[in-house]
Amino acid sequence: MNDNTMIQFINVSKEFPNGTVGLKNIDVKIEEGEFVFLVGASGAGKSTFTKLMIREMMPTEGNILVNGKSINRLKQRQIPHFRRNIGFIFQNYRLLADRTAFENVAFAVEVLGASKREVERKVDYALRLVGLEDRKKHFPDELSGGEQQRVAIARAIVNNPQIIIADEPTGNLDPETAKGIMDILNDINIKGTTIVMATHDAGIVNRASHRVIELAHGEIVRDDKQGGYNIEIL
Ligand code: ADP
Repeated sequence: MNDNTMIQFINVSKEFPNGTVGLKNIDVKIEEGEFVFLVGASGAGKSTFTKLMIREMMPTEGNILVNGKSINRLKQRQIPHFRRNIGFIFQNYRLLADRTAFENVAFAVEVLGASKREVERKVDYALRLVGLEDRKKHFPDELSGGEQQRVAIARAIVNNPQIIIADEPTGNLDPETAKGIMDILNDINIKGTTIVMATHDAGIVNRASHRVIELAHGEIVRDDKQGGYNIEIL
């Protein structure tokens, strides 16, 4: 295996108990530091792909390696530790409504048992990176959608994960705000974090020059390392 491989699917299939095929014979490698768009129509298998990557589900066939290790073999009690190396960003932000921006990000550091000083240092750094240092005392409902997503990004990166998984992170945002979010994700990627982003937004995919993996009916129908120009129907 190439030393720089971060995520590898080896002949992975996922069939649900009701017989539906989520993914079929997927062989793919994602290198450390890549930015990959995962595209495809609804039902194509994008969520199944990301859920398999984080051991939220197990494949019915094949093997998945993350950072060179088979995650199929992880015991239940090892899964939280494995996931600490992955940051998650969702379409609907998923912030805690009764906590400030600072507290939402701090929570992710506190659960690892960091000192108060360490928490402050890391959270301030992450909030600065997303340009929200002046909003840290605000509650989610006092922030715009784009600002809430930036808090969610700060939370995802605060423990310095090697991988970020973003599921439609711009899905609820207007194009201008979405562009700001993409700029932040690009900055994080340039600093070395591997990013896998599921999206329906053809405009965003077409404007970037990142690798595009397109799924249809659980299979990879396109894997374009040069970037996804001219994607029409997603
Ligand atoms: P996407 O994220 O691209 O919309 P999904 O990965 O959610 O696609 O779904 C892929 C296929 O697997 C679809 O046909 C979907 O209906 C099916 N599927 C997803 N989750 C389940 C499940 N828990 N049980 C049965 N079928 C499922």
